[in-house]
Amino acid sequence: MKNISSIQSATSQPKDLAVLRQAYQGWSNTPDVFSRLTKRLSTTLSLEIQVGILAEELGGVIPFDTFTYRHQIAHREFVYATGIGGRHRCEYRLNLEGVNYGTLSLNRRQKFSEDELKGVEMLISAAICSLRNACRFITIEQAALTDALTSIPNKRALDEHLQRASLLAERHAEEYSLILCDLDHFKAVNDQHGHVVGDHLLRLTAGALEAAIRNSDTVYRFGGEEFAILLPHTGEQEAREVADRVRDAISTLRVDCGGKDLSVTISCGVARHMAEEGADQWIARADEALYRAKGQGRNCTRVFATIG
Ligand code: GH3
Ligand code: MG
Ligand code: MG
Repeated sequence: MKNISSIQSATSQPKDLAVLRQAYQGWSNTPDVFSRLTKRLSTTLSLEIQVGILAEELGGVIPFDTFTYRHQIAHREFVYATGIGGRHRCEYRLNLEGVNYGTLSLNRRQKFSEDELKGVEMLISAAICSLRNACRFITIEQAALTDALTSIPNKRALDEHLQRASLLAERHAEEYSLILCDLDHFKAVNDQHGHVVGDHLLRLTAGALEAAIRNSDTVYRFGGEEFAILLPHTGEQEAREVADRVRDAISTLRVDCGGKDLSVTISCGVARHMAEEGADQWIARADEALYRAKGQGRNCTRVFATIG
């Protein structure tokens, strides 16, 4: 075997380069279905686009009526389906190195022949590494937007969603409100009961906030003991009601600390999105309202008033 320094100092053999050139021309000019499939798949990390490419290339050689791909990924069901009908069905679980990357099924009115099934298997085996990469990308992307302690969306997710909400609010004249919530005297909880109890309470708080809101609203962990709730189609009066409901829910939480129940309260600041306002200004106004809630006794809601 050559060592690295001899590889670096040697020059290429002209016949090797000629073979390389010829192979490149073959690869780029007259792509067979496998080269074209893998080349197309390598241009994207989007699972949706990759599965679409596979459906297209597969349909070019093995006609089908329905193509369906399903995968449970990052706690969600990813489904890609195209076409309709067909009572004959073939189904493949896509596995690579012992890990499952979804299920692909084809339906057709005519029975699939043995040779056709072998063809499907060959195309799947050419695509599987790219599909694995796309699945991993979704998992990593999801992890980057999730808070590790509470498993709810994190500040990064909030920043993305606030920017999108600001754009939608402008474009469709839609109302959005933001609630910032901060647990009261939480440092004392850690000091008196330790961080394990503090962390447990943060998880309970996240769960209670999620249970107290509507499906269309989203809770984020904004910082240490601070949470944010984004409410589409919601004005400031309605958002205040949600904030008060949230405070009620938090005040009923109990943690058993050696025979004595520990409870907490939360303060809330509400701000409705204002025209031509960026995410940072919007957050700053909600924070100002929260600051007032803290200054005016805690366990209360204050609204950054924009009307009246
Ligand atoms: P206030 O009512 O003014 O908000 O008082 P506070 O004590 O809640 O606020 P302060 O900012 O003084 O302290 C926040 C505390 O939150 C300090 C820190 O120990 C705690 N904290 C932040 N992140 C975590 C975490 O991930 N786990 C735990 N257990 N505690 C955290
Ligand atoms: Mg705080
Ligand atoms: Mg606090």
